[in-house]
Amino acid sequence: LAQLFRPLDLLGMVYRTIRQGLIDMEAMYKLIDTQTEVADAPDAPALHVTAGEVRFDQVHFGYDPEREILHGISFTVPAGHTLAIVGPSGAGKSTIARILFRFYDIQSGRVTIDGQDIGAVTQQSLRAAIGIVPQDMVLFNDTVGYNIAYGREGASKAEIEAAARAAQIHDFIMGLPQGYDTRVGERGLKLSGGEKQRVAIARTLLKDPPVLVLDEATSALDSRTETEIQDVLRSIARKRTTLIVAHRLSTVVDADEIIVLDQGRIVERGRHADLVRADGLYAAMWARQAAEREEVEPEPKIEDVF
Ligand code: ADP
Ligand code: MG
Repeated sequence: LAQLFRPLDLLGMVYRTIRQGLIDMEAMYKLIDTQTEVADAPDAPALHVTAGEVRFDQVHFGYDPEREILHGISFTVPAGHTLAIVGPSGAGKSTIARILFRFYDIQSGRVTIDGQDIGAVTQQSLRAAIGIVPQDMVLFNDTVGYNIAYGREGASKAEIEAAARAAQIHDFIMGLPQGYDTRVGERGLKLSGGEKQRVAIARTLLKDPPVLVLDEATSALDSRTETEIQDVLRSIARKRTTLIVAHRLSTVVDADEIIVLDQGRIVERGRHADLVRADGLYAAMWARQAAEREEVEPEPKIEDVF
């Protein structure tokens, strides 16, 4: 009977996954052995990451060739730096992340990591170099330990626990009925958004990739969880080349470069202070979010300030 339900599980997962925007692509690839839209060149070499510089050069892309979504996107993220991508919904932010993972091939332009065209190297080596913490992680119907260990085949129990500790989820797991052997996912224990994100972070820490892609959750986590997760993310982004698709601008204040995307074009770029001063789209987004923050956060009392 279990066999009978598997395809349904899979369909449900595919549906939810697609709905969620930047999906848990690694999970998809491993779960569904289908033909993807991209193929390795016959003698494709493996990507050889030396430093981790990511570069988009005049990238044009549309899911449907008739409708171009990205109209000539160029940026360079030097090794170890953080690029934040912000902009209105539908601007193409998640699309940039999907292209870097080579979920799709571009129509023209070039995407390189350390000078190697990502379309020319094996997909396996490309995906091994990039860690993704998706907006909303899809958990396997398996143990929480398995869900973390998935980050790297052959990881030891000690390594799994170290990653969970760093992601601040170890204590929570130890409190579960069967600890790391507790089943989670659709047919197991349901984890909250914040807990799932920590599992995703632990998995990524275990994988230890030179390039990191974070697609920030749009769904609101409570503000304490959010702050905690941001601290963890900041620490894993350090020393790695990081692309953050950000919805809350408070997370991008420290980015080395921010690009503001609107309808598939970069309309502004720079550091936070420069963009606020420029008084354009970013400044308007910043002002709006600042107003929202004040609405939800009560004015500090005098005693709190001094
Ligand atoms: P953002 O992340 O900035 O909200 P996306 O990159 O998800 O925006 O989407 C950019 C544009 O591409 C939108 O117009 C969206 O409708 C379109 N789009 C996204 N995914 C697909 C898809 N799988 N097929 C066709 N169009 C898509
Ligand atoms: Mg998106």
